[in-house]
Amino acid sequence: SPPPSAHGAPRILAVANQKGGVGKTTTTINLATALATAGHRVLLIDLDPQGNASTGLGIGRNDRGNGTYALLANEAPSAEVLRQSSVPNLTIIPAEPDLAGAEIELVGEPRREFRLRDALRGNPELRNFAYVLIDCPPSLGLLTLNGLVAADAVLVPLQCEFFALEGISQIMHTIELVRRGLNPGLRLQGIVLTMFDRRNNLSDLVAADARGFFGEQVYETVIPRNIRISEAPSHGKPVILYDARSPGAQAYVRLAGELLKRERALLGQAA
Ligand code: ADP
Ligand code: MG
Repeated sequence: SPPPSAHGAPRILAVANQKGGVGKTTTTINLATALATAGHRVLLIDLDPQGNASTGLGIGRNDRGNGTYALLANEAPSAEVLRQSSVPNLTIIPAEPDLAGAEIELVGEPRREFRLRDALRGNPELRNFAYVLIDCPPSLGLLTLNGLVAADAVLVPLQCEFFALEGISQIMHTIELVRRGLNPGLRLQGIVLTMFDRRNNLSDLVAADARGFFGEQVYETVIPRNIRISEAPSHGKPVILYDARSPGAQAYVRLAGELLKRERALLGQAA
């Protein structure tokens, strides 16, 4: 498949929301897998010290080698941290345990917010990827900032729960600040409603509010609450491979289709 941008650079998307447990990692893993399965070369960067994306793709805690920390600390050339995942077309930079100290260690360093961007730009292999998906940690600290500075656009998962919209104003504000200073080109890629529960009126209310406020920026595809999604990580597999017929897997495949459609529309505008 052709790379999604005219100059051959990959499209870099950060998946971010400062709230934990809203579906960032699940969305990153399954979008990456769906895009890879559709024939695009995808790189997933695990930027969360908890390393759930790495585990969820079958790379265990003691099997991480050099990963995102080494990249940020300039300890390893970026080619060295690229690992083939169990999914064809999907490469991962895992989160090794040292990443937990990065926020503090980088505080006094030059270009601390640009570490990820500099590392990615300095890597010619990156041009082989069509998409780079960055799984951000549940905070708005230096790691997430590195993700937002390296990215072209941000995908925000929104859990269909009480207070969801209050939380989203914080990430929107951060995106605005990053745009004003560190990365003027940063865009909102879209908002994905996650853990939607048809039996719960609150889910409908949150979804309606989000659509009322953010309009078309909210994806039509809604990710349902689905037990197969929560089982998949313990098998080291994306739900798309663990149980392809489950409602959760099918929703993520549809989400990837919608994302590709949006990306193509953007390219059309740029041409
Ligand atoms: P985050 O990365 O934002 O902290 P996760 O993607 O890790 O969130 O999701 C938090 C927990 O909820 C995980 O245990 C995950 O397996 C589970 N989960 C995520 N999305 C769903 C869903 N749609 N249905 C059921 N469980 C989900
Ligand atoms: Mg996570």
